Formats: sequence, C-alpha cells, structure tokens
Amino acid sequence: MNSDENKRSNFVTHLECSKTGKEYPSGKVIGLSEDNAPLLVRYDLNALSQSIDKKTLDNRPENIWRYKEFLPVREEINIVSLGESFTPLLHAPNLSGNHVYIKDEGRLPTGSFKARGLCMAVSMAKELGINKLAIPTNGNAGAAMAAYAKRAGIEAYVFCPDDTPEINIREIALQGASTWAVNGFITDCGKIVREGINSLNWFDVSTLKEPYRIEGKKTMGLELANQLNWKLPDVIMYPTGGGTGLIGMVKAFNELESIGWIGKKRPRMVAVQSTGCAPIVKAFDEGLEHAEYWENAETVASGIRVPAAIGDFLILRGIRETDGFATAVDDEAIVSAREEIADLEGILLCPEGAATYAAYLKELKTGRISLDDSVVLFNCATGLKYPMPEVVNHLDKDQPINYSSL
Ligand SMILES: *Cc1c(COP(=O)(O)O)cnc(C)c1O
Repeated sequence: MNSDENKRSNFVTHLECSKTGKEYPSGKVIGLSEDNAPLLVRYDLNALSQSIDKKTLDNRPENIWRYKEFLPVREEINIVSLGESFTPLLHAPNLSGNHVYIKDEGRLPTGSFKARGLCMAVSMAKELGINKLAIPTNGNAGAAMAAYAKRAGIEAYVFCPDDTPEINIREIALQGASTWAVNGFITDCGKIVREGINSLNWFDVSTLKEPYRIEGKKTMGLELANQLNWKLPDVIMYPTGGGTGLIGMVKAFNELESIGWIGKKRPRMVAVQSTGCAPIVKAFDEGLEHAEYWENAETVASGIRVPAAIGDFLILRGIRETDGFATAVDDEAIVSAREEIADLEGILLCPEGAATYAAYLKELKTGRISLDDSVVLFNCATGLKYPMPEVVNHLDKDQPINYSSL
C-alpha cells in the first residue's frame, strides 16, 4: 500500500436513531438508541464524494475495504481482516428467466455473508476498546464473530439454539468462543445475552443492536452496484431473518444516489422467508409497520428462523419504498430448489439461498416477477455447511464391474 492508501480518511459525522432521527455522537461505545431502535451511521457524503471517484475505487483490490470511505473504521490499524474478497455474481443461464444471477456469498471467511457484518462490528469494537463480545446466533453469525474476535484478541461468548446445525456449533467452539447451546430460539438466546451484561459486562453484538454490522452488510450493495458497473438489477431476492443485509443494501443505494453514482431507480427488494417462520411476510400483507412475534418457528433454513426482528420496521420500509414485497416458501420447495440449482447450474446453495430461488419460481407464477426482469438471488452461505441427501451407490472392487450400468 502507498502512503495515500495508508492514511485513513473517515467521513462519519454521527449516529442517527432509525426511529426518531435523534443524533448521537460517533466514536463512543453505544448499542441501541434511547428509544430502543437501531442506530444508523451517517456520513458527510458531500466530502466523501469529493474524495473519491469510481475510477480510483476500481484500481483498488477487490475486497470490502475498497469502500473504506463509506465505512466507519477510523484507523487502518483497527481493521480486523480474514480476507473479505469480492464474491462472484454468477449468471445462471439454465434457470427460467433470461437474466438470473446468483451472488455467492458462501466464498467469504467462515463461509457466510455474516463475515461482512461481523468483520465491521469486531473492527469497531477494537477501535472503541471493547474487550468482551456476546452474540445470540442461528450459527453463521456466531462463527463469524468467533473468528474475527479471535483474530482481534477479543473474548467471545456465543449462544445458539440447541438444534442449530452441529457443524456451526463445532466451528464456533473450534474458533475459540465460549459456546453454549440453548433449549430455545434465537430470541431466547438474545435474552440471555441481554441479561448477562449485568454480570459479565460484555458488549451485545445481536443483529442491529449495535450500529456497525449494517455497515459491513452495506458492502453487498456497494459491491453489487460496482460489479454491474453502477447499474442495478430490477429485483433483489434476499432471505430475510434479522434483515441486516436488506436494510444495509437499501442504505448503500441511498448513499450512492446521494453522491450521484446511481439514479433514482432501485431494485425491487424482495424479503424471502419460510412459511414456517414468516413474520415479515405477514406484516407486509397486513399493511403493518411492525411484525408480530412468530410462534413455534420451524424451517430447514435455520438462518432465517428469526421469530422477531428489532429492525422489522426498517425491513418493511425498505421493501415498500422500493416497490418490492415479502413472500414465503415452504421447506419442501426450498429443498427441491436446492437440488434443482445444483443439478442445473453446478452451484451448491445453502437452504436460505435456495429459498430465494423457490420464491423466484413462485413469483414468476403470480406475475410479481417476470421472465424479463434482471434478478439477483442471494446465496448467503456455503452449501457445504448444511446436511445433504445420503449417497447410496457402493461398488465392490473385488467383483466384476458392469460399466454399462454406472
Ligand atoms: C443470517 C443469515 C440469513 C439472514 O440474514 P439477515 O441479514 O440477518 O436477514 C440468511 N441466510 C443465512 C445463511 C444466514 O446465516
């Protein structure tokens, strides 16, 4: 890196309550606003736009730190990195539709896009001098936090439902976090984290309960726009749990419009959930601003098994402002969508990613999406972390092999 790249420019002006608009100073340890709402990082976008242009950006390495001017870390030395490279935007020509792309986030450190958010949250924790972090998780967020915290030399406590995929629980523990399986949902784990603050004085890194995971997830929107040469797709289908990614992408597009890099047109943001846990879909269909708690949540797509999201109103706002919608698909459709994409395209999705394809097929039928739309499906984690159907073909090497029957 040259000396110009070494000097960190930072454009953060303040934090803003997403509910009331009340301003809070940056550079201090803070979780939610006084009104119990997520805080959004605000930047001096005017100064930012004068300090970089698209060409300068394109000459930098293909990783999330290319967008450092749009990010909250002040000092380069505080960046905690495991190599957050660009993820491929894969054209899927064998699927129905002429312009379907899969953004394969499974290539990120710890195998999921949670790395984007937790990389930023842990870097900011380091910058702010925090030395103990705790998180409730359905698996991937905990894995990412454990890895980045270890990298930063920060203590990590992770709580997940006891039916979280075994591989997630093991990777979290192996990466050095104090790891606990809880007989409840992620919301129950969240309560344990909240109440543990009194005894253990850790910092709560729950989805949207600190300001910086959104900023990390925002890089999905910046990167996508950049990869498409600053032309956005017609539709983005996003498997929605806590909604950080959807909210982050909407924020990214608004910031890009403010600096004149894109126009007014937005992709229609589609929140995809499972019929076994669809609080956002229900609230969207009923025209509500907040979602109700979803009882007895159950789905194979564990990453989107989130019965209540603190940023529900931000998700719903993002969908409505972009003329998008929310839709749910059942587990059967998710499983067959996963098989279909592996079979047609050679891409192994996670169940949550497969849910977006199942939803795409469903909405082609309802007409809310058309074959001519350009559509980006988000695959959020590597398919390798999830159970796969058993393989039953065995060959006896000591017997003659009938090759024509293989
Ligand atoms: C966390 C997660 C999601 C949901 O992401 P949010 O931005 O929290 O809504 C979807 N899929 C996978 C695999 C995840 O780990």
